[in-house]
This record gives sequence, C-alpha cells and structure tokens, in this order.
Amino acid sequence: METNKQQGTIQVTSENIFPIIKKFLYSDHEIFLRELISNAVDATQKLKTLASIGEYKGELGDLTIRISIDKKKKTLTVSDRGIGMTAKEIDKFINQIAFSGAEEFLKKYKNDAHAIIGHFGLGFYSSFMVSDRVDIITKSYKRAKAVKWSCNGSPEYSLEEPDRTDRGTDVVLHLDKDSTDFLKEDKILELLNKYSRFLPIPIAFGKEKEWKDGKEVTTGKDRIINNTEPAWTKKPADLKEEDYAAFYRELYPMAEAPLFHIHLNVDYPFNLTGILYFPKIRNNWEVQKNKIQLYSNQVFVTDSVEGIVPDFLTLLHGVLDSPDIPLNVSRSFLQSDQNVKKISAHITKKVADRLKDIFTKERDKFEEKWDDLKLFINYGMMSEEKFWDKAKDFALLKNTEDKYFTYEEYKELIKGEQTDKEGQLVYLYSTDTEAQFSYIQAAKDRGYDVLLMDGQFDVHYLNHLEQKLDKSRFVRVDADVIENLIPKKEKKSSALSEEQTAQLKPVFNGQLPGSAYSVVFESLDEKDYPVLITQSEWTRRMKEMSELSGGMDFYRDLPDNLNVVINTNHPLVIQLAEKVKEELGAEIDKIEQQLKPLQEDLESLNKLIGKKKEEEVSQEEKDRRDDLQKQIDQLNKERDEKLKSWGKEKKQVGQMIDLALLATNRLTGQALSEFVKRSIDLLQ
Ligand code: ADP
Repeated sequence: METNKQQGTIQVTSENIFPIIKKFLYSDHEIFLRELISNAVDATQKLKTLASIGEYKGELGDLTIRISIDKKKKTLTVSDRGIGMTAKEIDKFINQIAFSGAEEFLKKYKNDAHAIIGHFGLGFYSSFMVSDRVDIITKSYKRAKAVKWSCNGSPEYSLEEPDRTDRGTDVVLHLDKDSTDFLKEDKILELLNKYSRFLPIPIAFGKEKEWKDGKEVTTGKDRIINNTEPAWTKKPADLKEEDYAAFYRELYPMAEAPLFHIHLNVDYPFNLTGILYFPKIRNNWEVQKNKIQLYSNQVFVTDSVEGIVPDFLTLLHGVLDSPDIPLNVSRSFLQSDQNVKKISAHITKKVADRLKDIFTKERDKFEEKWDDLKLFINYGMMSEEKFWDKAKDFALLKNTEDKYFTYEEYKELIKGEQTDKEGQLVYLYSTDTEAQFSYIQAAKDRGYDVLLMDGQFDVHYLNHLEQKLDKSRFVRVDADVIENLIPKKEKKSSALSEEQTAQLKPVFNGQLPGSAYSVVFESLDEKDYPVLITQSEWTRRMKEMSELSGGMDFYRDLPDNLNVVINTNHPLVIQLAEKVKEELGAEIDKIEQQLKPLQEDLESLNKLIGKKKEEEVSQEEKDRRDDLQKQIDQLNKERDEKLKSWGKEKKQVGQMIDLALLATNRLTGQALSEFVKRSIDLLQ
C-alpha cells in the first residue's frame, strides 16, 4: 500500500558523481557489502545498548542479520533488526550526511584516482557502485511509521510509506548489469568470509548444507557465516592453550602449529586487542610475511600490514583489532597516523616482553624453539633499536655442540682463552660443521669454543653484532690457521730457515689447485696438519653478503682468495725441504754461487748511487744497475723454474695439498679421482 508519496532532491551539486564514483572505485567496489553489513551491525549494537540502559524496553528478539539474493529480481538484500530509521532520520543520515560525505570524498580525490585504491569512507553510498537503484525499507524502534526510501542513482529520491510492522532495516540493492556477479552465492560467501568472519552479530546467509546419502542437501537451519566471539575478544584468563591453538587453525587452516602466542589487551592510551602468533620461521620467510589481519571493532580492514607495523613484526601471524585504527582511509594515511605509530611501538614492546618472560620462566622451552625463532628475533634486533635494547638480554648464541648461551654468558665463557693480544674478543664460528670439521676440531683442541652460524641471515647478523658488542670480532674457523685466528703474544719458531721456505714456495707452486690459491708459510705445531687451506674472512663475508642482498657486484666478483698454508714445523714438510737439498742442492748451489757476486755488486752499486742526488747518477751507472738486476732476475727465475718442475713431479707435494683440500670438502671430480689413483700408487 503506497500512500502519501513524496518527492525530493538530494543536496548534491555534482550531477554526475555516480558514474565517476563507479569508474574510480572499480577495483575495490566489492567493499559495498562490508559497508552495508557494518551499518547493520552498528544499528543492532545501538539497539542492544539502548536496551541495556533501559531506553528501549521492547523485546530484542532474534537479532541475526540476513543477507539474501533474489536472482529473478536481481536484488541483494541486507536485513537487520536494529534501531531502524524514522523519515526524519532518513533525511538527515542518508539524504544529507551520507550524500554530502560522498561529495566531499569526490572533491578530495578528484585529481588523485590512485589515492582511492585501498580503503576509503563511503559507507552506505558505496552501494551505488553496483546498483541501478537502492531501496531502504526501515522502521525505527521509536513510535514512527515505516519508511521506504528509493533512489536510482540520480540525486532524486522518492519516499513512501510501506507496510512494515517489524523493527529494523532492509537495504535492497537492484544490481546493475555489470554487477550480476554479486548474485552468485559463492561470490557473496567469499566476501562474507573475507570481511565479516568475526563480526559480533550473527550473520545468516542461506541455509546450512549437509551430506545425506552421498548428496549435499539443504537443511532448515540458518547458515551463520561468522564467529561472533573470536578468541581475541575474550579475556586471556578465560582462554586455554587449546583455545589459542584452535583460533590459529581457524585463521590459517593449512599452517603448521605456531611456537608461542601473545594476547594483547590494552585500553590506555589507545584501544587495542589481538592475538599474535610466532610461526616457525626457517628459509623462504618472504612467503610467511604479511599474514596479520587488521580489524576495527571486529570489522576486517586489511590483511596487509606492511608499512603499518615494523617490518620484522610482519613475520608474525594473527589478528589486531583497534577502533583507533581508522577504517576508512587509504594505506598511506594509515602509515602516518599517530595512533598507528603508537600501536606499532606498543606491539614491539609487548613482543619483546613476552619473549623475555618465556626466556626467564621457561628457558628450556625457549632454547628448544630458538632455532625457529632466531630469524625473527635477530631480524628485529637488527632493524629496531628499541627491540635490540630488550632482546640483547635473551637472544641466544648456539655453539657447534648445540649448547645455547646468552651474549653475556658466552662472553664469560670465551674471554679467558679467546682474547687476542690487542684485547679483542674473538668469536669463532662455523657455517658448516661437516665441511669445517677439522678446523673446529683444531680450535677445540686449543680450548676454544666455536659457534654455529649456519642460517641464511647469519652473516648479516654477525656484522651487526660486531658493531654492537664492544671490542669483539667474528672469525670463521677456517679463515686462518689456528695461531692467527686469535693472535697471542708468543709465536712459535720455525724449523725451516728463510732460505728453505724460499725454496719450498716454488715447489708447492708447481701443484697449486687454481689461480685463487697462493702459498704461505706458518710455523704451526708439528702435530697440526702439514698443509691447510684457509680463506680470508673479509672477502668471503663480502661475497656472501652481496649474494644474499643482491647488488654490490664488485664484491661478488672478487676472487676467492684462498691460502695454501704450509706448516714449517711438520716433519713431512721438513723432510721435503731436506729432499730438495739432496736432489737439487748441487744445481741450486751452482746458481746461488753465480748469484752471490752479482748481488754483492748490485748492493755496493746501490750504496754508491744512494749517496748521490738523482741528477748526479751517470747513465753508465744506471745501465750497470739495470743490467745486474736483469741477470739476478734471470738466475732467480731459472732456480724457481727448476724447483717448480721438481715439485710438479713430487707425489708428496700433490698428496699434501690434496689432503688439505679433502679436509675442507674442496676435492671433487677429476681432482678427486687423481688423488685416489695417486694414493694407491703411494701404497705400493
Ligand atoms: P557511517 O556508517 O559511516 O555513519 P553511512 O553513509 O554508511 O555512514 O551511514 C549514514 C548513517 O545512516 C549512519 O550513521 C546511520 O545513522 C544511518 N544508517 C545507515 N544504515 C543503517 C541501518 N541499517 N540501520 C539504521 N541506521 C542506518
């Protein structure tokens, strides 16, 4: 029955704002459903509040919000049993406020279409993004007639008095031809699950389905799509471990169980509730990022908190809910919002406090989970100074024997043995206990401790530690021979003379495994290996870091810089030096004898020239000096060539180098098979 029909014009100046809105907002137009359901929830909550303070004395009845689709009429309806609106209120809230809000919005973003992508505040008005016509049929909880408001998108609307006796509001969208997708049950279900999963008022959409005799049949029961009391809205005291675990599964049905959770519950200076979970983080952590869902009063805002909370916190999972997080604004606005900043700082603090609490009360459990937590904690310590300040007391270091230490404990452990002559504390570490086994062993034999740093991120992190820890440096166990890793005052003397090492150098050069290697001599213990391979800490670390982070091509292209270290105190090396003397002594002596007078001549000539000014040196003297130098170089070369070709033939030389390569996992392919063959020969 339509009586007392009225006509009116909405106070909007731009006649064409609907097509513009539709075009601008195309990418995100599905949010209309969130907006309408939020309004329905608000209207219902308001009624509950009025009832609780005695302003509304009638029955509340069933407050379920219902979403329905009529495929024939091409309508989508959102119905609530909330406070409803009187004709006057429709005029005020819909004709004036909602529309003026839309106009303001348009003015603001007219020249910046991109700013709109994301979240924005259009409320009820957004329903026109998908509709040709929208009807509101509503009856207030107050004594007033029901009202039907109808608008086809132009600023004109009509107002009628429908037959409605029931309190509440139906918003009926007559979907336009581009929006028939929203007549599909699956589509609506998807949107409801995205935006309305945890709304506080039950939302019904269709009926429950069940399997009967191998077929899916519809039951008579309403299908409620939301959990009205999600775990984060409850008091921590009312929840058990299982409840937290169940809620995690509700959020991420496919994910592995988390390590810990934090229940946030703040009401001053801002309102914030939520549950954050620490997932197991190992490699491939990018995929685990950005899973936190942000809510405002249980209304879903976004599941991408990137840029809103500090980067390391985006590794956490869970839910944050704050009415102080503005629902209807763009992402860039969220990032600069003061409340959001405060919330971020608060979460960082809470996360650190919770970890500290577990560390203090349940250290065993903390250690057990450390490997999975490490990346998150170290990343946070590197990127947030405030987090470092707290975490430095509970962050752990793990050694190659799987023991865990705090930074303070570890310092105490090593400071006796591992302080070098400059007073610097040297932290030894290994990145691979298999490949670096012999070095770790050598370090342990000396009474040193070796850390395990085998994580993807560790090389970056230890750079950070070096900056943070006083007078400390990190050195990989194979960066040098044990004596030099932690230089102490007294140095062992060498069993070989300078002349002998000078002769051995070309001998070993004859069989170097590649151009990245060079021969150096060290007087190590006679029980150490005769030959060792070491790799410069600096070049290796730079290369590793540049590979990890991309960029720094200069470092990535550096040669490997490997040393073949000859132990001048090892019996095999001494034996080799003696063999050189035995087999090549006569020839070498002959060359040395030729060299001797030449070197003496050059020396006295240089002395003479040294006394003169450059311009006083005669051409004759210069020529003589160059000539002597040339002869000396020639003889040296001759001698080195002899030693080198002698060394090339010596199985012991190849064998000693190969053993050193083998001990560091560097002997592969053809080189390995040659080593095996040579070993068999040597056994015969
Ligand atoms: P907002 O929700 O941000 O205030 P809207 O444009 O969505 O803006 O709605 C404008 C106003 O219309 C609301 O504040 C509310 O007073 C009223 N309103 C909208 N939907 C309903 C509803 N389902 N029941 C009662 N009042 C409503």
